[in-house]
Amino acid sequence: MIHQFYPQVPHEYRYELNKDMQLAAAHFIPASTAGKCANVHGHTYVINVTIAGDHLNETGFLVDFKTIKNIVHDRFDHSLLNEDEAFGDTPQNDSDTFPTTEVVARTIWQLIQRELDECVNKPRCLQVLVRETPTSYVVYRAKEGDFDR
Ligand SMILES: [Zn+2]
Repeated sequence: MIHQFYPQVPHEYRYELNKDMQLAAAHFIPASTAGKCANVHGHTYVINVTIAGDHLNETGFLVDFKTIKNIVHDRFDHSLLNEDEAFGDTPQNDSDTFPTTEVVARTIWQLIQRELDECVNKPRCLQVLVRETPTSYVVYRAKEGDFDR
């Protein structure tokens, strides 16, 4: 599954970086409409993150691959996603934050872009792909208005 080709994002930036990650995590969707997904179960998630920009930082990176791995893999690997503060039906969250594939993809984008906003060279996370099973994946693409500047 890793090394596959992913949907491309059209853009005019000079540099584009892609980071693949694979992680094991459990989740459940506590909604009556979720069927069997209401039970705790696990997936081997395959995640691809696309970052682009016109400028490199002082080291010659768009962003360090390791930074992306730290944000996503270190946080979610071997976890129960519902226990992460980013997910679940808690007062600080909207109701649409159960860790569905869509919400996982959006949340990963938010976590990564928040970090990228601190970089002097201002890279942008253009796309996050989250594959939950060999036959199911979601792509989250940020819109222009989702970026700070
Ligand atoms: Zn699931």
